[in-house]
This record gives sequence, structure tokens and C-alpha cells, in this order.
Amino acid sequence: MKLSIIIPAYNEEDNILPLYKEILKNIPKKYSYEIIFIDDGSTDSTLKNIKAIKDKNIKSISFRKNFGKAEGLNTGFKEATGDIIITMDADLQDNPKEIPNFIKKINEGYDLVSGWKYNRLDPLGKRVPSKLFNKLTRILTRVNLHDFNCGFKAYKKEVAKSLKLYGEMHRYIPAMASWQGFKVGEIKVDHRERVHGVSKYGWERLIKGLLDLCTITFLGSYQRSPLHLFGTIGLAATAEGILIGTYLTIKWFEGYPLSNRPLLLLAVLLIVLGIQILSLGLIAEMINYNKYYKENGSKIKN
Ligand code: UDP
Ligand code: MG
Repeated sequence: MKLSIIIPAYNEEDNILPLYKEILKNIPKKYSYEIIFIDDGSTDSTLKNIKAIKDKNIKSISFRKNFGKAEGLNTGFKEATGDIIITMDADLQDNPKEIPNFIKKINEGYDLVSGWKYNRLDPLGKRVPSKLFNKLTRILTRVNLHDFNCGFKAYKKEVAKSLKLYGEMHRYIPAMASWQGFKVGEIKVDHRERVHGVSKYGWERLIKGLLDLCTITFLGSYQRSPLHLFGTIGLAATAEGILIGTYLTIKWFEGYPLSNRPLLLLAVLLIVLGIQILSLGLIAEMINYNKYYKENGSKIKN
């Protein structure tokens, strides 16, 4: 059995060597291993320090510029050849002594095991928003985890190979995996304070995270049939507009003037908006269909 450990690193020069040494101590004897460092366009000596480690089991990949953690993980997943794949942060906050616990849980039959930093040692300004964010994510994705943003995770090979992350979607890996029918579990992991270097994320992560949550919720429920969402809203708005319009028309026949009724404006607005929203859904369906047709359609006569 082989273990692949994927470590995205952005300006983590002082953490690389100590992390490597700690990992080595914690890889179970019966596993062979590879450690894939992804230097995400670091501007310090991160890459140099990775290359300085003399170990043929280390692969180092270096990005031309900073593409973000999700891109790093994507590339790592592509490169990995292990049966079990572990991702962890490069900053020494994730404790490598948890590696055997992850493996154990995977061997219990889970496809993906996510870490839960139950004793999270980050500033309060990070912990409080993160709590709210996790709660909201739990509700919207219907995936029951405490800590979606933990970089410490273990995957069976087939899960890692089937994930396609873009943007900053790495936060929603457990949700995406669970939607694909994989069995997702969680273990408590020890979390340590950052000693060297600085955090790469600030408060703006919260806003971006919320927007990504919108995307992921939408994709999760309506990716295959976007019209079900847009169509429902569009039809409801149009129907309401027509109803109000009908009411106003009856009133007009009864002799009431329309010129002083703001309700007329609302009726027109609802109808126009409704049709536009509906059309948006149809366009989304068209994009979906084109993709489907390209993949599955054939014009050849047998
Ligand atoms: N990271 C990365 N690219 C980025 C930002 C971060 O590869 O653009 C790496 C970083 O080096 C670390 C991990 O992602 O290994 C988590 O980042 P960080 O520790 O700054 O996040 P925090 O723990 O503060 O949430
Ligand atoms: Mg960190």
C-alpha cells in the first residue's frame, strides 16, 4: 500500500524541513510513501528548501505564480500515485501524528475523512466567523461535518481522482464528494499555533467563502436542471404579474381609472422580470445541453 501526501505551500520557507522530518516519523512502517510539495508561486526560499531535502520520495512541483490552494491541490491529486492520499497544510499547524488515525479511519471503510480542528488555535477573529460559516455550510449542503475548512484530509484514490476543484472550491470538497455518493467521515485532529510565517487568508475569505457557498449550493441542487430553479421563480413572478394585471383590468372595466395605481407598475415589472428569469434558465439549459450533446450526441447513421 502506498501513501501520497500532498502539501500546498505558499511562502512557508521555515516550515518545510521540520514538517518533512515530522511526517517521516509518522508514516506507518508497512506503507511506502511519496510527498508531493506544491510550491504555489512562493517568493521566498520555499522551493529551494524543498529541493534541498534529499529523498527520492519527494516530488516538487512549482507554479509560475500564486494560483491558490485549490489549484495546488488539483495538481497534487493529478500527480498522486498512492492508494491513500492525504492533504495537509505546510505551516505545521496540522500535526503529522494524526496520519495513522486518518489511515485507520479510511481502512474502516470511509472514502474521505476530514479533520476537525476541535481545539483550533487561531485568533478569535478567525474562529468566530468560521463557526458561523461551518453551521451555514452544514445546513445548506446537508453534509454533517464540524469543520469544512480543515486542510488535513485523507482520501481513497478514486475520490481524489474524481474531484475537480476550481476557484477556491477546496473548502467544499466533502460536500462535493458526498453528493457524488462517497462515504464521508470526520476525525478530531490536534491543531497547533502557527510559529513561522503568516496566514495567507484574512477576513475577505469569509465573503468569498459565502459566495462560493452560493455556487456550490446551486450546483449541488440544480446543475443538471437549472431551469427547475429559474423556471420556478420566473413562472411565479409572471403568474403574479398576470393576476394583478387581470385584477386591474376588471377594475378598469368597472370604471376605476388606472393612471393613479402604482400596482400597475408592479404588474408590468413582475411580468417582464419573470420572463427574463425564465429565459435565463433556458439559456443555462442550452449550455448544459450543448455540453451533453458534444459528449454523447452522434450524427452518424449506422
Ligand atoms: N496556501 C497555498 N496557496 C495560497 C494560500 C495558501 O498553497 O495561495 C497554503 C499555505 O501555504 C498553507 C495552506 O495553504 O500550507 C493553508 O494556508 P494558511 O495556513 O495561510 O491558512 P489558515 O491556516 O490561516 O487558514
Ligand atoms: Mg494555517
